[in-house]
Amino acid sequence: MKTAEMIEKEAKEVLASLPETLTPKDRAAIPHMDMPQQDPKERINNMSEVALGYTEDEALVEAQRCLQCKNKPCVSGCPVGIDIPGFIKKITEKDYKGALSVIQESSLLPSICGRVCPQESQCQMHCTVGKMKKNVDEAVGIGRLERFVADREAESAMLPEIAPETGKKVAVVGSGPASIACAADVRRHGHSVTVFEALHKMGGVLSYGIPEFRLPKHLVDTELEKLEKMGIKFERNVLVGRTRTIKELMEEDGYDAVFVGTGAGLPKFMHIPGEDLVSVFSANEYLTRSNLMKAYDRKDSMTPIFKSTNVAVFGGGNVAMDAARTALRLGAERVDIIYRRSRDEMPARKEEIEHAVEEGCNLRLLSQPVEIIGDENGIVKGVVIRKCELGEPDASGRRSPVEIPGSDYTEPYDTVIVAIGNASNPLIKKTTPEIETNKRGNFIVNPDTCETSMKGVYAGGDIVLGAATVILAMGQGRKAAAAICSYLEGNE
Ligand code: FAD
Ligand code: SF4
Ligand code: SF4
Repeated sequence: MKTAEMIEKEAKEVLASLPETLTPKDRAAIPHMDMPQQDPKERINNMSEVALGYTEDEALVEAQRCLQCKNKPCVSGCPVGIDIPGFIKKITEKDYKGALSVIQESSLLPSICGRVCPQESQCQMHCTVGKMKKNVDEAVGIGRLERFVADREAESAMLPEIAPETGKKVAVVGSGPASIACAADVRRHGHSVTVFEALHKMGGVLSYGIPEFRLPKHLVDTELEKLEKMGIKFERNVLVGRTRTIKELMEEDGYDAVFVGTGAGLPKFMHIPGEDLVSVFSANEYLTRSNLMKAYDRKDSMTPIFKSTNVAVFGGGNVAMDAARTALRLGAERVDIIYRRSRDEMPARKEEIEHAVEEGCNLRLLSQPVEIIGDENGIVKGVVIRKCELGEPDASGRRSPVEIPGSDYTEPYDTVIVAIGNASNPLIKKTTPEIETNKRGNFIVNPDTCETSMKGVYAGGDIVLGAATVILAMGQGRKAAAAICSYLEGNE
């Protein structure tokens, strides 16, 4: 792994060697700038961010790699359509404020999306440079450049103008990225907005799910402060569907429209014997204890977390990587990520898998947990694992795991974290039967407006898409906001 100093030195050398005018061939020959990061041996002992961000020199080199393609293929891969060559051009001109303005025309949370977007399967997947080099890892580092601009210009990010008060009231349920985007856009039109959040802290998965070492919480707090400064009200500890129903919000509390962005926070389990043992956690609970309740801060936090030595994490997505890496930082000596397919089929971002492995997590691939075994106190003492091989591709296009009969063996563990996915919470559906859902419990919405089957009620993010991504949730929040404003202005 290159150190931060080595990367900076390389950037300086490249900058010094660049000709005054660059041809596309020159640009294509510029080496891809690595992201400086904390040393794996050090970072497993702290919660600080792993990726350190580009310096100015590194960003300037990376920006020069962009060919400024006329047809902008990368933009088609961004769910909110950021003018990518536009903002990168501004970086090459050292006009960082200008670059941020271009990004902010389409995205509200660039410092967050620049960090957590799965760029390699979105904007960067379509990048001409990556295609020329037949390697998506060689694409222009769009997300890294977006993060550079957002971090550098954090102070200069302006609050949007708010139209005069209209007297209309909108309730936003949940406070994740879908709701943040919706609330901000609706408020800009002069409507009064109140966000109702079930937890004591705003931000959704950005606050309680994604760990500090990937997404520093001060960035999320800054975005939430901006919403408050825009006049958006926050009501914490309100579980809509129980404290107030959607109907009550509309008929008794006078809200003219409601946006539901309640996410997919209901953990799925494997339904194998032993899942009710003491030291079996859903990744949601484990990460919430650590991120939201700061259980890692053993000195000052009141929240306990199980002291683990040998941890098994079931699953192969981003959530599994986050749980495994958190367990290491909480002092586990061995963390095995048990996944039933091969590394190529893992749904987690490639970078997250690499980071987990660098930090010492073991990938136990083609392995299916079939039973969790407990000791006489009901605490996990091992997992029975069945070996698998890859069969034909399934509906997701990935090769499916086929269990190998007679291959079971038992591995010792004292903790199990189940990270095999999340479903939507059925509470709102149960108390508001007017809202149609599909068989998975996701809200069915008009794809153009995000309106549900209940008049005046809109929805977006994971509650509609199933467990998806931050940027897709944000995109839906913005789409719903446009439709809500149109509805409130009488243009249905
Ligand atoms: P959420 O962020 O889930 O927010 C929903 C909010 O609604 C929560 O705060 C919840 O408490 C609240 N709520 C629920 N029910 C009610 C109710 N009845 N009343 C009031 N409030 C309620 N995506 C990426 O793009 N990149 C990543 O790297 C990535 N990593 C992830 C890691 C983890 C551990 C997890 C869990 C998810 C990750 N995701 C990632 C997915 C991404 O975070 C989600 O797709 C996104 O947050 C969904 O946004 P949302 O606004 O729909 O809902
Ligand atoms: Fe790429 Fe995400 Fe930024 Fe869009 S928001 S340009 S997909 S990193
Ligand atoms: Fe630049 Fe790649 Fe987009 Fe072309 S596709 S404009 S090279 S980022």
